[in-house]
Amino acid sequence: MNAAFDPAALVRPDLDGLVPYQVHIHHNVIKLDANENPYDFPPSIREEIWRELGNHTFTRYPDPVAGDLVDRLSDYTGVPAGGILAGNGSDELILTLLLTFGTGGRVVITPPTFSMYEVHARIAGARPVNVPRRQNFILDTPGVIAAARHPETRVIFLCSPNNPTGNATPPEEVAEILKNSRALVVVDEAYQEFGGESCVPLLEEYSNLVVLRTFSKAFGLAGLRVGYLLADPAVVQQLLRIKQPFNLNAFSQLAARTVMARREEFGQLINQILQDREELYRELAALPGVEVFPTVANFILFRTPLPAEQVYRELLANGILIRNMHSPGLEQCLRVTVGKKDENRLFLEKLKMIL
Ligand code: PMP
Repeated sequence: MNAAFDPAALVRPDLDGLVPYQVHIHHNVIKLDANENPYDFPPSIREEIWRELGNHTFTRYPDPVAGDLVDRLSDYTGVPAGGILAGNGSDELILTLLLTFGTGGRVVITPPTFSMYEVHARIAGARPVNVPRRQNFILDTPGVIAAARHPETRVIFLCSPNNPTGNATPPEEVAEILKNSRALVVVDEAYQEFGGESCVPLLEEYSNLVVLRTFSKAFGLAGLRVGYLLADPAVVQQLLRIKQPFNLNAFSQLAARTVMARREEFGQLINQILQDREELYRELAALPGVEVFPTVANFILFRTPLPAEQVYRELLANGILIRNMHSPGLEQCLRVTVGKKDENRLFLEKLKMIL
């Protein structure tokens, strides 16, 4: 024992207040808290992954740039392979982007939005600057442009469709920001497969655009951690200097590659989620005192007449896990992921009992 050793004293003081990412593991609950795909993998795709796995050599390091996966992604997105970088979830790519471009500068964030932009900005030693969304969570485009013009601004994060509010920002507005920014503009399209217009076509015109995507939502691979970004090849070259050499393991590369090769088979599941979203939206909106926010993603944000924590806890006691947002501007708001039909029905039933 070395009594003089205090690990906390060795950590940068500007990281005070940072806490471990909290995920509450609950067994035997209906899980509508993390915007995952509620359906299991199509069995024949799962079998193909197992078959390919059988031929795989685990003794060797994986391809550092996930070349085969990147080729498939190029086919899916129309972006040349040199402008694609795969990562260990889009979370990892957010951190890599910030370590590469953000450190020592300002990073613009538009709350309420995905929490990892701020966390990773702090970890990377960048200063998060908030430009809050306006009424109905619409992006404050003039505010973002004003922040973009600050000489210390290095990276701007826009999330479209935005988590947790569900609304999208039209590409024309993103283009307006891109035109007025020397900073990198990252558009997180984690939920793009569910709706909203993609900013990918803007990549041809704007070298300061990065589009971030994930396999964790529509393509049901949250457990395998695969994300990717689309950008100008010169941006990718900078990121390659900073990223971990073997950031994406061989199994995840193989699985994501197979999913891309057979992506049409996910179309039906996605359509089902979209149909069920409309039904869930209508039913929520019909509940007295409940305010529901329009969404183009696979989740719905709503405000209840009761304290959010109370609703959250009572639902959990009834076997339904959703998300209490706990963020400024989202008082009494909860977010529910669109699940399978019977899961949505049970959620509504229990919610009606509580309200
Ligand atoms: N961006 C957004 C907007 C998200 O909601 C999430 C997941 N909650 C992520 C990125 C991270 O996804 P991944 O699983 O690819 O790390």
